[in-house]
Amino acid sequence: MTTEIQPFTELEHYSAPDLLSWVLQAYGESFAIASSFQKEDMVIVDLAARAAGHAKFRVFTLDTGRLHEETYQMMEEVRRRYGVVVETVFPDREEVEKMVAEHGPNLFFISPDLRHACCDTRKTRPLGRKLRQLRAWATGLRREQSATRAHVPKAEEVEGILKLSPLADWTAAQVENYTREHNLPVHPLYARGYASIGCAPCSRAIQPGEPERAGRWWWEQGNKECGIHFNADGSVRRDVKIQPAPLRSRNMHKGFTLWFTGLSGAGKSTLSQAIAARLRDRGAEVELLDGDMIRTRLSKGLGFSKEDRDENIRRIGFVCELLSNHGVIAIVAAISPYRAIRDEVRARIANFVEVYVECPIDVLARRDVKGLYKKALAGEIANFTGISDPYEPPLAPAITIHSSQETPEQSVERIWATLENSGLIFFDRSTFAH
Ligand code: SF4
Repeated sequence: MTTEIQPFTELEHYSAPDLLSWVLQAYGESFAIASSFQKEDMVIVDLAARAAGHAKFRVFTLDTGRLHEETYQMMEEVRRRYGVVVETVFPDREEVEKMVAEHGPNLFFISPDLRHACCDTRKTRPLGRKLRQLRAWATGLRREQSATRAHVPKAEEVEGILKLSPLADWTAAQVENYTREHNLPVHPLYARGYASIGCAPCSRAIQPGEPERAGRWWWEQGNKECGIHFNADGSVRRDVKIQPAPLRSRNMHKGFTLWFTGLSGAGKSTLSQAIAARLRDRGAEVELLDGDMIRTRLSKGLGFSKEDRDENIRRIGFVCELLSNHGVIAIVAAISPYRAIRDEVRARIANFVEVYVECPIDVLARRDVKGLYKKALAGEIANFTGISDPYEPPLAPAITIHSSQETPEQSVERIWATLENSGLIFFDRSTFAH
């Protein structure tokens, strides 16, 4: 399958920390960082850890079965330092056994075609499997690394999955400086002259003045790529073999819209992500429309006047209507301050479940690490919903969550029960444990 690439030009202007903050907030646990524990990967993991705070973030690695021992040491170091589970993706055992039986364990030295076959089996296909579980991922690509990578965008959409390269515009010196300033763990092979680290038989140290990726498949000429990011000829249309996730649960839920409304910081995003993750775990078809993400895409250019806010909600409602009508669960996390426009959207969607996430202003102000509530209360921010702009709570929501009085887990349970009682989901509880 040839992969279509679509650039996200508006994200090109984000700095690496901002891009990671944004994607963690917008995509939550459907986002993960791909890491081979090189310096760039460590910078991204560190930035994500800072952006996530106490929230969970995900890291995965491709274990080809041919990695350096030092790479496993790095894996352990990342687990220890950041407290993350490094999700390890292995190749398909039968595919590897067949390949090795036919061509031997070191087939990559025999011909470029067999080298590509090995990368395909041990890297590209396992990556495709992993990506089917995600909606966004990040890599450590930098434009400076090679001519092939000179035009890498910070964000692109490949077959419906958002791919971020937050360090695309970083220099090697910036990576070095960040690594030193933050005392990041460094893969031991850099000290032995490696500049790019992959599988043990296919990467080696380089000489001073050699290009950064000269040590990868050093016996080959031309572009040095494995097929994950580029074709061997350096082209950016590549065969990633991403297939849509299997449709497993059309008969376990109806199409409906779950609409979270409430003040900024009340917990709408956290709850919407948690319920989306639980539904996806059970094979449900779910689209999560986060207000912040919508503002950068569907409603780019709209402001914060009442008219623009209403138009924003109208557009989100239109997308939800289409999704719900086609059997998909559309989940919205948006302040959506005005009752009339919410009711207008509700009237258009057959199965509409309104969740009011309530939290007192003084609690929100205490939670708000950016201090926006304090500034708004001091009159320094105009049009701030709940302070200098109205918020009209729903009069008859399907459920009200008091996020200052219950844990997210308790809230998710209550929302789940509401959906079950409404007859919108009918998963067999005996087949899973919450
Ligand atoms: S880098 Fe070498 S060992 Fe690793 S998957 Fe590619 S060809 Fe195989």
